[in-house]
Amino acid sequence: MNTGDSTIELPVSTLSGVGPKLAEKFSQIGIQTLQDLIFHLPFRYQDRTRLTPIGGLQPSQDAVICGYSKGSDIVFGRRRSLLCRLQDDTGTVTLRFFHFSKSQQIQLQTGSKLLCYGEARHGSSGLEIYHPEITRLADNAEPNLDDRLTPIYPATEGLSQKRLRTFVAEAMNKLDESGELPELLPVELTQKLRMPGLKDSLLYLHRPPQNASLAELDEGEHPAQQRLAFEELLAHHLTLIRNRNRLRAHRAPVLPAPAAKIEIFKQQIGFELTAAQARCVREISDDLTQPRPMLRLLQGDVGSGKTVVSAIAALQAIANDYQVALMAPTEILAEQHLLSFTNWFQPMGFKVALLTGKTRAKTRRETLEQLANGRISILIGTHALFQEGVEYHNLGLVIIDEQHRFGVHQRLELRDKGSSSDNNGEHYPHQLIMTATPIPRTLAMSAYADLDFSVIDGLPPGRKPVTTVVLSDKRRDEVVERIQNICNLGRQVYWVCTLIEESENLQCQAAEDTLINLQAALPGLRIGLIHGRLKAAEKSKMMDQFKAHQLDLLVATTVIEVGVDVPNASLMVIENPERLGLAQLHQLRGRVGRGDAESFCLLLYHAPLSQHGKERLKVMRETSDGFVIAEKDLELRGPGEVLGTRQTGDLQFRIADLVRDQGLLPEVKLAAIQLMENQPQRVMH
Ligand code: ADP
Ligand code: MG
Repeated sequence: MNTGDSTIELPVSTLSGVGPKLAEKFSQIGIQTLQDLIFHLPFRYQDRTRLTPIGGLQPSQDAVICGYSKGSDIVFGRRRSLLCRLQDDTGTVTLRFFHFSKSQQIQLQTGSKLLCYGEARHGSSGLEIYHPEITRLADNAEPNLDDRLTPIYPATEGLSQKRLRTFVAEAMNKLDESGELPELLPVELTQKLRMPGLKDSLLYLHRPPQNASLAELDEGEHPAQQRLAFEELLAHHLTLIRNRNRLRAHRAPVLPAPAAKIEIFKQQIGFELTAAQARCVREISDDLTQPRPMLRLLQGDVGSGKTVVSAIAALQAIANDYQVALMAPTEILAEQHLLSFTNWFQPMGFKVALLTGKTRAKTRRETLEQLANGRISILIGTHALFQEGVEYHNLGLVIIDEQHRFGVHQRLELRDKGSSSDNNGEHYPHQLIMTATPIPRTLAMSAYADLDFSVIDGLPPGRKPVTTVVLSDKRRDEVVERIQNICNLGRQVYWVCTLIEESENLQCQAAEDTLINLQAALPGLRIGLIHGRLKAAEKSKMMDQFKAHQLDLLVATTVIEVGVDVPNASLMVIENPERLGLAQLHQLRGRVGRGDAESFCLLLYHAPLSQHGKERLKVMRETSDGFVIAEKDLELRGPGEVLGTRQTGDLQFRIADLVRDQGLLPEVKLAAIQLMENQPQRVMH
């Protein structure tokens, strides 16, 4: 949180003994400056402050022991090893070495007084310590024990623990001398939270005293750790609020709600909006009438009816002669939206068009022209919507569907691309982001502190819960039989093949093989295949056939994950569900249970399942509540995975852990507000 020229921002090479080579090592573990170094915290500690009597050793416990060698032998078991019996007044333990030198053998000879550190475990000769660290002591010497816990840092080859410790200590000294490590948090706050100051916390964590609670430190729950986590979360939070304020400072088109047109629209959709949908429509509509850009997240479980809500928002823009861009994560979904939006808006006289990476050059040229001259009101597509050369006439609203695929960076990028100039100076379009991955409150407060929220809670009336069954792929025959039965009843089935090693080609191959197998096993059925290698036209033809019930069974890769809507499909088989995240499984499962028949999802796993895998599939069996699933996903996989931002490096905290530290978040939020009010110049630049 420090700015300006200061010691804390000096490169590590200013430490004595750090040359270019070592600086390179440091940067491998993410350390460039002194600040990085002092916030490079140990991930665990060793207690080398006291001697454990050998008779009191417990398995899987690290301990310092001191005793006399009763002799050493080389034994030739499954692996050749050197054994040494070490004894004190309370008992004996075996030291075992698989790699050893002549000099080590001498060190261990009968009668040597040895100080050892290592982990005891059950071995073939009772309690053993494998490869302990050993120091040989003079016969009359007392062991020289540490007076503080020993920190173990994330390290790398060529940068040993010992050197890291020295450098950290030096950096801390330098900063202490220069009077840096300023306390950003007001005293009242740290007092209220019962947290130590910044400097004290750092000192404590780099060199905890003998009586520190290892258990607390291991869990990251020590007040000193909490203090630093708090600071980190706060810094992140302030950044988001800063972004938000910056955005809000821009102008956006004022778009009054076109009451009459909205009435007409509601008449033609063929159903009543649920109370939750109506509330979201109101919230969005209010934002659009403001001269500042909206930045709102529309959250709603799979099938909750977000599309129609976004369509009403779109109508508010196009009725005011502004354009709308609707971005979807896949081509299939973009095409589906194109269909819905064309059905809704063409009769009202608005032109809706599609632009994806696969749009042919000629069509693309025409589309771009009509986009630039304002003929097109709504442009639907994938990332292609914001590529070079795509010029809008007057973009008023950007709608992003299934936000979790895009990540936070892209969100920021879009904002800028959408900006444009008109007679009144620069203005920004409003933004509506839709996600079917319910975002756990925890993440909502941290990752999305820059957004407003609307939530569609609850599904449209008449939805039936999907029964989920987890079974081994050894029972494929039973599954095949079940498919036959369901199709005999006039229902349809999805068979989803999951990702193999992230390779789209292999995935398509797997789907093709599955198709062949299923065709052989189910000769009476009409079976289709859809995967990413098909041309857009082929894909939509396949989808149309399935929708029209010209196909009974659709074999698909995860391309059908989002947006596909076929109410007559009542069974989904997902092969190797253990490869997918919970959120993705939940999305897939949302494709069934849309009609009036009882629906099923069969998770056909490949044994053996890891403990993790078992837990995940159990969650799927036990709940269909997207929020519960998202919370579990966060717990099991961490926030980066949940938000799809792992690659982009968003939300990678050094110290804080969003799951562990969620209790801090309400206070973080409060502190941010206080700081902005009391010291705006300090936190808001
Ligand atoms: P999602 O939130 O997953 O994007 P969709 O917008 O695709 O969901 O809606 C799923 C289905 O529910 C669509 O067929 C849509 O027409 C239908 N639907 C949406 N709102 C309602 C409603 N209020 N009553 C009945 N059906 C609705
Ligand atoms: Mg949708």
